[in-house]
Amino acid sequence: MKILFTSILFFLFPILLFSQVDYQARAEKNLAYLIRDSILLNQIEMDNEAVRIFASAEDKKNGKAEFIVKWENVQSFLDLLIQGKKIDSLSSIENNKIVHKDFSYVEEEKPNSYKGLRIAIDPGHSANNFKTAILERRYIKMKANDVGLKKDIRFYESDLTWQTAKILAKRLRAKGAEVLITRKKGKNAFGTNFKKWKKSEFHKTLERDLKNKIITQKIYNWYLEEATEKDIYKYMNKKDLIERAKIINDFRADISLIIHYNANGNNVDKDGYLQPISNNYCMAFTGGGFMKNELSSQDARLDFLRLLLSNDLERSIALSGFIMKQHSSIAKVPVTPNKNNLRYLQRNSVYADMDGVYCRNLALSRMVKGAICFGESLMQDNINEAVLLNQKNYKEAGVRTSSRIKLMVDAYEAGIHEYLNQ
Ligand SMILES: [Zn+2]
Repeated sequence: MKILFTSILFFLFPILLFSQVDYQARAEKNLAYLIRDSILLNQIEMDNEAVRIFASAEDKKNGKAEFIVKWENVQSFLDLLIQGKKIDSLSSIENNKIVHKDFSYVEEEKPNSYKGLRIAIDPGHSANNFKTAILERRYIKMKANDVGLKKDIRFYESDLTWQTAKILAKRLRAKGAEVLITRKKGKNAFGTNFKKWKKSEFHKTLERDLKNKIITQKIYNWYLEEATEKDIYKYMNKKDLIERAKIINDFRADISLIIHYNANGNNVDKDGYLQPISNNYCMAFTGGGFMKNELSSQDARLDFLRLLLSNDLERSIALSGFIMKQHSSIAKVPVTPNKNNLRYLQRNSVYADMDGVYCRNLALSRMVKGAICFGESLMQDNINEAVLLNQKNYKEAGVRTSSRIKLMVDAYEAGIHEYLNQ
């Protein structure tokens, strides 16, 4: 009888039932993945009534919460966050609650087909030539002798990620998905390269940041008088990442793939040649793993609350898990063993309880909404990979590349397929 009653209810009020997510249970589960440094617990409070976040530990001591989100108001709060509406006071949430008291906001079900699926692909980095790739420190240069070839090896990550994105996009579009790539070949998300950006945008951006109090007068002066090319590159990169997140969020991606290739890069000689390594592994990052001082801006705190309360984290872990599994089965790159001595995994990440998947608070893993996989597919400076990646023995979607890149595309494609069909 009870079963019958429930199914009638479900039939009559499917939307109402879908909206009854146990947000408190979800938040308690997510919290473990979100916090890398327990000092941040001095800015958060959860009980049976609400989750509260504080701008500082001091504010928590004084009971001065920045946001109080009662469990019954989570839906309205997420609605505001997901639509990207400005939330700067408690009252706006209360107001919105009135608007949404009929539960008009419903969590979307996990997509299960390509039709209408919105996929954003972000090819990491932006160098348009080897010189810029050196500046962004994302290049591979090896002596012929060290890898048993006749000619030296030379390639850079920005090219590999773009090639991956271009081929993958064509395949996913053919399946019916709507696909966005955040940048063009050799360009950043502003549609320009470093040299041009420095010439026409650098000063304007500095002035805007000064005006908006993002930088101080002292830092502004430092950029104009003392900053090196590398410093200016880093500044552009920071702005570029914010732009990429904005482009993806404006597109309202269901799935975002942030494409990178890893490297050890530790043994570089004075001429920039790398020593090949014997290790090879893949890993993926999702949001989470917040460290000390990483809840110091309101933007960061709102992203934290979204990751805590929405299903973004759970879906990102599932998606990333499938993609990593396919990396090891299709491309034969093993996932990073959970017991490893990688500092950025041991100290800056939280293991997501899924092979090769870690929660890490990177600019894009924090800011991009929806299900994400920030993939690091292989070690470019592995001796075998370096030789293979240096070859141009494969062509698809008008892109000439290495057959290794083709296998990475296969792995992403199969991983997404599995995620949709799980
Ligand atoms: Zn990278």
